[in-house]
Amino acid sequence: DLGYINGKFVQLDERVIPIEERGHQFGDGVYEVIQCYNGQPFMLEEHLQRLLESCEAIKLPISETLEDFRTLILTGIEKAELQYGKVYLQVTRGIAVRNHPFPDVPVSISMTLKDTEPLAEGYRVNGVHAITHDDERWAKCYIKSLNLLPNILAKQEAQEAGCFEAILVRNGFISEGTSSNIYMVKDGAVITTPLSNHILAGITRMAVIQAAEELNIPFVERYFSPKELLEADEVFMTSTLVEVLPIVKIDGTVIDKGVPGEITKKLYMQYQELKKKALV
Ligand code: PLP
Repeated sequence: DLGYINGKFVQLDERVIPIEERGHQFGDGVYEVIQCYNGQPFMLEEHLQRLLESCEAIKLPISETLEDFRTLILTGIEKAELQYGKVYLQVTRGIAVRNHPFPDVPVSISMTLKDTEPLAEGYRVNGVHAITHDDERWAKCYIKSLNLLPNILAKQEAQEAGCFEAILVRNGFISEGTSSNIYMVKDGAVITTPLSNHILAGITRMAVIQAAEELNIPFVERYFSPKELLEADEVFMTSTLVEVLPIVKIDGTVIDKGVPGEITKKLYMQYQELKKKALV
């Protein structure tokens, strides 16, 4: 495991953030999480492109290019000797006396590189449980912002209910999970919430759309209600860290037969193929 901040690699527990740092005091920054397989970051370009878009959306003036970030991450992976693990990359508006308007200081770039274990096999084989929860977040959820309080509160409620994820509901329709995108399968078609300001454009979502296309599985982007979700043939979630994960029970209601669905399994397998192709 290894850390990085503003030009130097450090130990994870090193004290490096001054009290007056805007990520720390305001959550004034954005981030990415990238999974590393066999020492290689998967869909790195896509993650870095989204990071640059998040920076632009909050008017964070970075001089680093996508290429610079790529070099930084690859250097970090090498230094940390990371094989299977996650890279967390964060950009904030820097270190300045606490005051709301933008300061004229350099941005802070930090990163952690950590060895991780793959998701427990039981979750994949049996599927996970979820709750639904009001989407109490702001109107710019397409930005991967550091401000995660509503997500954290909803995820904690899920955990306390013995569940893996909270599925957020805005204006009577499913938006996404607290840290995932949400899908249902009905009559052979995969259905997911359309991209808008209210959800994050998941990188795994992008890969799953490609996987569905390769498998000739119909893929539809449209709004659906919690009622439709509970009556679906299959439900699953996606994220960089969980990949494609079946959800078999929501708010205590069993989805179909309560076991991972066939289309979910096929998409998971095809996602593994995409990884194999991308990683040498
Ligand atoms: N939606 C939210 C709110 C997230 O935080 C995440 C990732 O953590 C996702 C969706 C899934 O995005 P990705 O597939 O890029 O990891």
